[in-house]
Amino acid sequence: MSETLFTKIINREIPADIIYEDDLALAFNDINPQAPTHFLVIPKKPIATINDIQQADREVVGHLHWVAAQLAEQQGFAEQGYRTVMNCNEYGGQTVFHIHLHVLAGKPMGWPPYQERLKTPV
Ligand code: AMP
Repeated sequence: MSETLFTKIINREIPADIIYEDDLALAFNDINPQAPTHFLVIPKKPIATINDIQQADREVVGHLHWVAAQLAEQQGFAEQGYRTVMNCNEYGGQTVFHIHLHVLAGKPMGWPPYQERLKTPV
């Protein structure tokens, strides 16, 4: 797998606003936030997409949500609530091919994420 910019962030080859790190994961603020709070939790192991998750990766992938919950508690938005999202491939809107959990908070989130476009009358 070719190196993505998230591997470069893990290796400190490019800067990021890192808010958490442990043996398995790293969290940093999103460069283009879509909510008052928007950070990404990534595994240190490069896994390109959700489709590439192996059985041996179950612990690390579950760990990403544990880190999200710890940071939600620390940052004080756990009770109010938040959204986690992991996009997969083109239709999911994935642009960086190193899986990452988006954590969005600080305002009520909309749902559903997709709405059928109105058909133009003929
Ligand atoms: P996705 O579209 O789900 O693949 O999400 C990729 C996310 O990475 C986007 O929300 C980007 O704003 C974010 N992003 C891209 N480059 C950086 C960077 N250098 N530092 C922090 N976040 C980034």
